[in-house]
Amino acid sequence: GEPGTFKDRVILTERPKLLFEGMVIAAYAVGATEGILYVRHEYKYLQKHLESILQGARERNLLGKDIGGIKGFNFDIRIQFGAGAYVCGEESALIESAEGKRGEPRDRPPFPVEKGYLDYPTVVNNVETLCAVVKVMLNGGEWYRNFGTQDSTGTKLLSVSGDCKYPGVYEVEWGFSVYDILGMVGATPDVQAVQVGGPSGTLLAPVEFRRILGYEDLATGGSIIIFGKHRDLLKDVVLNFTEFFIDESCGSCSTCRIMPVVLRNKLLKILNGKGVIKDIDDMLEWAKVLKASRCGLGQTAANPIVSSIKNFRHLYEQRVRMDTDFDSGFNLAESVRDYIEASGRVIVE
Ligand code: SF4
Repeated sequence: GEPGTFKDRVILTERPKLLFEGMVIAAYAVGATEGILYVRHEYKYLQKHLESILQGARERNLLGKDIGGIKGFNFDIRIQFGAGAYVCGEESALIESAEGKRGEPRDRPPFPVEKGYLDYPTVVNNVETLCAVVKVMLNGGEWYRNFGTQDSTGTKLLSVSGDCKYPGVYEVEWGFSVYDILGMVGATPDVQAVQVGGPSGTLLAPVEFRRILGYEDLATGGSIIIFGKHRDLLKDVVLNFTEFFIDESCGSCSTCRIMPVVLRNKLLKILNGKGVIKDIDDMLEWAKVLKASRCGLGQTAANPIVSSIKNFRHLYEQRVRMDTDFDSGFNLAESVRDYIEASGRVIVE
């Protein structure tokens, strides 16, 4: 459900066998008998296609009883659709949803590998990871380690979108720089910013385009969104992403339920020309409260604001009032306008 991420949809559409093979290998490794492919409801149109692939696997004894002639290796896969909540990308919320409950993260411990789906030990992995397992089994771990960097081995699928000629899904080695990616996808020369890692990631300015994708630098799930100079970064990007987190909070923690709204209101105050310098620093300070949230959604909900202030502070400073250090942003006449109109009174300015 993360904006800018679509690589798994492409795998499910074009390479579903790879995923199911990865699940069978994982099941053999951990001794699982039941596998669930949890898919967001928006991809319901893929159900028939995926079910036919699963049926074909059963007919070839790649699913079911004594798989591949291995006595006692019994495993099958079913598909379950969720409602599309972003928080269900968090493994314990996904398990709650798969059990038919509200998709809400659990307190940990216990971790899913100890007590997960229906209290059974459960391994939750991403589509891309399970597909990589097949490549490793076919070619060996050494082969896979030849790709990438010392701290981030292998390859990564990127979902590239935004202001470029060739948006789409790319497989690259870890260690590619943002600059390399922009060249590969035909980004326009006037790139203003690149969002790496979706709304919970980092908004990079051009001076940082030599940074590399990898756990040692820019860890990412693979979403790359490119913004040209014609975009209003604060209104089109930062406000939009902050509202995304407000919509997607499950509401369980007060920090995650309230603070993104407070930050959004502060941002709107600045966008409406009522902000002062102190509002920028207040946002940085208040964002720290979100780190106390239970799951990654809340913990990263302020990232759009924090990373844009860090890398694009001048855009905020251009929009705040410099003639005063205080503006409450409260407009008395505007706030009582409905009452005045209903009562037929007149506002004396
Ligand atoms: S951080 Fe947000 S999404 Fe996560 S459990 Fe708390 S309220 Fe729910």
